[in-house]
Amino acid sequence: MRALSFAYVIVCLTAHAAPVDLPSLFDKRALVKPITEMEGILSDGSKATVYKIVVRSLPYDHAMGPWSPATLKDKGGYWEDTVDKKLYRVDADYLKILNQRGWNMFDADGTVHRTKDRTEFDKVARQELAGWTYEQAAKEGVTNSVIELQPLEQIVTIFLPKNPKASEKVTPLRQAKFSPRSGLGISTNGIRFFPPEPVDRITAFKNIAPLDPKGGHTGFGHEYHYHRAPSVMDEDKSGKIVGFALDGFPVRGPTETDGSAPKKLDAISGHDHDGLGYHYHVSNAWPYIVGGFKGPLGTAVLGDVDTCDATKTGGDGGKGGKGGKGGKGGPKGADGKKGPPPDAK
Ligand SMILES: [Zn+2]
Ligand SMILES: [Zn+2]
Repeated sequence: MRALSFAYVIVCLTAHAAPVDLPSLFDKRALVKPITEMEGILSDGSKATVYKIVVRSLPYDHAMGPWSPATLKDKGGYWEDTVDKKLYRVDADYLKILNQRGWNMFDADGTVHRTKDRTEFDKVARQELAGWTYEQAAKEGVTNSVIELQPLEQIVTIFLPKNPKASEKVTPLRQAKFSPRSGLGISTNGIRFFPPEPVDRITAFKNIAPLDPKGGHTGFGHEYHYHRAPSVMDEDKSGKIVGFALDGFPVRGPTETDGSAPKKLDAISGHDHDGLGYHYHVSNAWPYIVGGFKGPLGTAVLGDVDTCDATKTGGDGGKGGKGGKGGKGGPKGADGKKGPPPDAK
């Protein structure tokens, strides 16, 4: 690195931001094929060179789970309580707190109530996305349970602008239009970052959907994704680049490279300092990953795909299916007004 730094300094002085060699940062094991460059259309309709990144959506640098404890003797994953907003380990103590609120999370013999197979898991998707009442779900759906499922491999192509550019104004998450498949961006181990969990919708059925010790779990599309970055869960202080947002700007760990807390973050958890160029920082508080986007977005599509058109945000996914029937219309954005929000779970 040092040998290159002279040339890089000149580039920095003229172009302001240090160039980021995105392909070199990715875990090769997570990639279906090497990262390539191609021409694509960004969310604002502009043409740009994009990286084509085809991932398996499974981590190769850490184990997944646990999410639910099997019995009161076991420890599960992590869940941010919707009442006191604290992050709890899902174990006997926490499940008893829920039961004190009138929930019913375990049997007398200590067996924890949890989704035991794909059929049950898919029932949760149906009741949440179709807006069932609690009473309906108590009869025909899943209530008083820890929601979990072992994820499947899911081949996804994610397109990111090679030279991210700032828009005139930042786009807050709630106004951003992106495909439900895209999430907010991608971790360098090939796992997508998703928006904060829709916890109120989950707890409306007296269910919880914990994250594992790396901040991930299985979504309604049966894929693994993060709501919190592993670098946050691990309290990593390297400040290194841990991923990229959909607009192509890098996402760094919870600290700066000297281990200090990031200063003067903007409304979407980004800033620009020390010649690093604009970048985001993940954290253990809302929005956990990014609070919006600095520039026009790339996109993600199910399968190994050769067309990048980020103006088509609807359809693909959101239903939790794996077919990738790229629809027109469909969910339009993060607020879930039309169809389910990008984070189905
Ligand atoms: Zn920073
Ligand atoms: Zn989720």
